Amino acid sequence: MQIPIRQAFEFLEHSRLTRMRNIPTLLLVLLALVSVQLNAQAAAPLTLVKAARLLDPRTGNVLAPVVVLIEGDKIKQVGPPSRITVPVNAKTIDLGSATLLPGLIDSHTHLFLDIIVPPEAEIRRHENGEFAPGMLLAIVESPSKRALIGAQLAREDLQSGITTVRNLGHSGIDGDTELRDAIKAGRVPGPRILASGRKLITRGEYVQNLNPTLADVILQQEFLLIDGTDRAREAVRQNEFHNVDVIKVSADENLTVPELAAVVEEAHRQHLKVAVHAIDTASIQTAIDAGADSIEHCNFVTDEQLTLMRDKGIFLVLTPTFYNGFFLKITEPSIVMSSAMHAEEAASVGRRNERYAQLVQRVLKSGVKFAAGSDMCWFYPGKTRGQASSATFVKLRQTGMSALDVIRAVTVNAAEMLGWGDRIGTIEPGKFADLVAVAGDPIADITELERVRFVMKDGQVVRNELRSH
Ligand SMILES: [Zn+2]
Repeated sequence: MQIPIRQAFEFLEHSRLTRMRNIPTLLLVLLALVSVQLNAQAAAPLTLVKAARLLDPRTGNVLAPVVVLIEGDKIKQVGPPSRITVPVNAKTIDLGSATLLPGLIDSHTHLFLDIIVPPEAEIRRHENGEFAPGMLLAIVESPSKRALIGAQLAREDLQSGITTVRNLGHSGIDGDTELRDAIKAGRVPGPRILASGRKLITRGEYVQNLNPTLADVILQQEFLLIDGTDRAREAVRQNEFHNVDVIKVSADENLTVPELAAVVEEAHRQHLKVAVHAIDTASIQTAIDAGADSIEHCNFVTDEQLTLMRDKGIFLVLTPTFYNGFFLKITEPSIVMSSAMHAEEAASVGRRNERYAQLVQRVLKSGVKFAAGSDMCWFYPGKTRGQASSATFVKLRQTGMSALDVIRAVTVNAAEMLGWGDRIGTIEPGKFADLVAVAGDPIADITELERVRFVMKDGQVVRNELRSH
């Protein structure tokens, strides 16, 4: 806030040139401007956060002990206590023996879906039976109800230390853009949101068997249909109208490279990145060829494709949601499931774990840039949305990824992918004061991320269970 004083002097300089006709008035102006500056300084509170350790995910270095000086919503200084001059008016928060980390970033989530898995008999009646009934209900129920669900899940994410999320679809027409703005305006607590608005899909993806008379009306509440390159561009523009931050596309065998390339071109023209959901090898190739910025899931990516992605700088977003028997966890004990289906599920866990661990190892070996997302859209009995999301991140450790790489995937790497590397992802001067603290050492035990004890977003304490007495 040096500008007012400088302006005052410039004004005085200028006035001298005009022969300083009215010195008392000029002094009054100067005094007024100085007091404006003092008030502005008083309005940006100084906070000093002290902790035993700080982990820098970029380098892996640990600073111990550490103090972080925060001015308003930004980090001003970071370093050992001996190097930081503490202003007398700074409020101190002593986190004792805790370890500080940057606020966590969930690069792929769905804050407006909280699906309860239906009974087995119902699942078996549908294609995509675990997911589609819950999604359809969310679409056709009141958008007001849905908005409140979004507010709840956003609050729960923040409570668990997730200070930024990229919400990639399934939020109605403007649920996530409105929630983003409501959080910014302080109406409800929640993480920073990068909102994608409606997901771009081809006809035939996600839901079939809808009432033909109502099908398009229902679909338009949740999706924008791509059918040719013109419709693809139009879909991007419709999302732009709702002021989205990112474009989400779901790629399947119906989506052509020219269609997706049209999306990418139109989005990039508006400085929006494009995140493409792709599971199978052909869809991943479409996403690579069309120039996607990130490819989500990538379950059946080949080594050649990983190399292509690395060379093109395309991010891969790992979503280990179903790793390690997640389906059994979210269905027990609420779902009615036969012992046969239970046994079938349990038997496939080992096989699927092995396949996913291999994917993670190939990703690490390839040198492709990666981030992680919870892809959480499920109701997880006994866990808040934040707890369920963090539990998903730490599964990457079980696949053989180092604890430091897991932390990178949900901090510094994610920030770079979002295009917010200058704002979040590390604890550095000039960045937003988004901090979390855990009681133990997250490198020794990554599950510490599931037990975040202190959360600060924008310099405001959201949660503190480490308060010194
Ligand atoms: Zn998803």
